[in-house]
Amino acid sequence: MNDKMGVVVVTGIPGVGKTTVMKRAAEGVDIQFVTFGTVMIDIAKESGLVKDRDEMRELSLEQQKELQIQTAEKIASMKNVIVDTHCTVKTPKGYMPGLPEWVVKRLKPTTIVVVEADPEEIYTRRAKDDTRNRDLDSKEKIAEHQQINRAAAMAYSALSGATVKIVSNHDDAIDEAVKEAIPVLR
Ligand code: ATP
Ligand code: AMP
Ligand code: MG
Repeated sequence: MNDKMGVVVVTGIPGVGKTTVMKRAAEGVDIQFVTFGTVMIDIAKESGLVKDRDEMRELSLEQQKELQIQTAEKIASMKNVIVDTHCTVKTPKGYMPGLPEWVVKRLKPTTIVVVEADPEEIYTRRAKDDTRNRDLDSKEKIAEHQQINRAAAMAYSALSGATVKIVSNHDDAIDEAVKEAIPVLR
């Protein structure tokens, strides 16, 4: 473990493979893996707001903001963590920032990883994965969401000083994606 590693934030649109890639990259590394959405759903369930993680993005923006703050506070108390989360969350009212000022200033990330793949690849992965209630976006909307996330990542970088690392996770090329991600954890 590198004492300077601090908090590494991993992002990527739903179904791109960020959890798969970063869990592999972190194998054997002395770092905690925290899924922002898991901490958030536990808090949301305690308040009786939702039953399922895929319902949270439909809560009111105020409720989501309150949950974000509580989640960020909980994660900020941990050291040397990989935080698996989203640059933006697609809500019925538009893209909501995943790391707005009230989140990024608490988390203080050193690096923001953005995992990407081709829209066709993401479309197929979502269709095949029946463990989650994923949005059935068109390939055009998937491309738009990835574009928005790059822009969002640089805005968070400007707010926090974190570097932004783009990791490509193409079909049958998971090893290359893991190789690209490993230097971030050194
Ligand atoms: P979410 O934001 O919803 O948590 P995620 O980005 O963490 O999604 P994963 O759950 O890691 O995505 O992966 C989504 C699906 O894509 C899984 O079924 C996974 O096995 C598959 N997958 C991940 N990477 C690849 C790859 N390089 N080639 C083929 N399939 C992949
Ligand atoms: P995930 O398991 O990564 O798909 O996360 C589940 C859900 O948690 C997402 O669909 C969002 O509703 C919520 N979530 C995760 N990260 C954030 C974040 N940074 N800001 C707001 N909501 C988030
Ligand atoms: Mg995931």
